[in-house]
Amino acid sequence: MTSNPGADLAQDSLPPAAADVLVIGAGPAGLALACALADQGLQVTVLEQQEEAAIAAPRPDGRDIAMTHRALGIMESLGLWQRLPVAEVAPLRAADVHDGHTPRQLHFDAGKAGKEALGYLVPNHWLRQVAYDGTKARPGVTLRCGVQVLDVQAEPDAAQVSLRANGAAPGTPAEQLSAPLLVCADSRFSTTRRRLGIGASSRDFGRTVIVARLSHELEHNGTAHECFRAGNTLAILPMNGRQVSAVVTLRSSEAPEWMALTPEAFATRVEAQFDRRLGAMVMTGERHAYPLVAVYAHRFAQHRVALIGDAAVGMHPVTAHGYNFGLYGVEVLSRQLGEARRHGRDIGAMDTLAAYDSEHRRVTLPIYLGTNAVVTLFTDDRSVARMARQAVIAVADHLPPLKSAITHQLTGQRPNLLPTLPNLPELGSGLGKLRELLPDGLKERLPADLPRPPARSRLPSLPPLPKLRDLF
Ligand SMILES: Cc1cc2nc3c(=O)[nH]c(=O)nc-3n(C[C@H](O)[C@H](O)[C@H](O)COP(=O)(O)OP(=O)(O)OC[C@H]3O[C@@H](n4cnc5c(N)ncnc54)[C@H](O)[C@@H]3O)c2cc1C
Repeated sequence: MTSNPGADLAQDSLPPAAADVLVIGAGPAGLALACALADQGLQVTVLEQQEEAAIAAPRPDGRDIAMTHRALGIMESLGLWQRLPVAEVAPLRAADVHDGHTPRQLHFDAGKAGKEALGYLVPNHWLRQVAYDGTKARPGVTLRCGVQVLDVQAEPDAAQVSLRANGAAPGTPAEQLSAPLLVCADSRFSTTRRRLGIGASSRDFGRTVIVARLSHELEHNGTAHECFRAGNTLAILPMNGRQVSAVVTLRSSEAPEWMALTPEAFATRVEAQFDRRLGAMVMTGERHAYPLVAVYAHRFAQHRVALIGDAAVGMHPVTAHGYNFGLYGVEVLSRQLGEARRHGRDIGAMDTLAAYDSEHRRVTLPIYLGTNAVVTLFTDDRSVARMARQAVIAVADHLPPLKSAITHQLTGQRPNLLPTLPNLPELGSGLGKLRELLPDGLKERLPADLPRPPARSRLPSLPPLPKLRDLF
């Protein structure tokens, strides 16, 4: 960063346009967008601070990414999904949500939605690899790695970027680039977003997630598990070859101790937390730790600028939406820009970008808020929250329309709620089953029968909902 931001940019004359679109950040979102824009006939230059070797052959980072059917379709349309080695794609056939060590659980099944899988798990470094390979196969994309962005400006006629190569001798003049549109794809901690004056709401959960691959004795049958335990959360994601990806979420203050455990001690802890459902476990890869901070940009576009990927929406990983949202944004933004170009409209004008801004917000905001609410409820160790989440699991498991809506959302099918809504007597008997499952504190508060509206005094008194502000 320059001591006087903006000093490197000539305000009076714009440098000739380097491309139609400048993208800052060659993560999976920036690279996938570059592919999509090139397919729309646009020239794209991607600027990345890391050296090309790190982008061309990304190293495993422990993240195994659950992809929805919609995201898979987008990758297929870009020719990226086809580049993934078959052995690296693991079908997610079912998912169970457990609270504490109780046998009660919420179960989702792909078979019931007529699908082979709810989604597919792919190692993040493979998603990055195929996105990089995709850009290399497209002459419309120029990748400039090993550069430091010194400043960015959104001028009325073009966006401008000032940059310098890593390790350039002191005093080397900065290079100036301009384009009708600049896209920030430089992570949830985007400095470009900040430099452009676009604010973001962020929520630091005070938690760290530790991810590691483990092999195990018993078959996982393609079932993922999300287990909420006092103080921490364990997700077990089924990978190919009798391996799982363990995702341990704990207080950040506890993370160093978990990271310092020997591989054997770490595996033993995960095994115990998982109640030995998969038998003995052995660590097969390195551990990686990620502090959990969710970020939601105040806007996804302004004149000459758009935000994509985590720079727009940085999700808590519990609902596995981060890169999926990145790809949804790629699809919508590239379609809008392609149409604008075909109709001779300015691709960097707010008129063009407004539809992306509103569509991406419509799709992501409810899930962003819902995810933060789930995290709030499921990481609260107070007994009232414990009771509430057991009730949530029990209610959801006995409401087929809700389960089918979630399953359909994952599998990309249009939810068809009305025909499957239970009739009142059925719902009444569901309430009976639900009462059996509820913890004692809530059992007697459930209304006896549904057709008679419960008296106000008998309504369950749930804990106060988190304030909207707390969800951001
Ligand atoms: C543990 C974990 C599990 C996850 N699981 C899932 C899941 O199951 N499903 C899902 O959909 N998502 C998941 N995610 C989220 C997913 O990994 C991210 O959404 C995705 O990687 C974001 O991609 P991106 O390209 O936006 O950002 P990043 O991957 O952060 O890439 C940003 C790029 O920008 C570059 N950069 C940064 N600053 C600059 C700069 N100033 N100049 C130039 N370049 C810059 C960086 O070097 C980097 O290459 C998970 C995340 C974590 C941590």
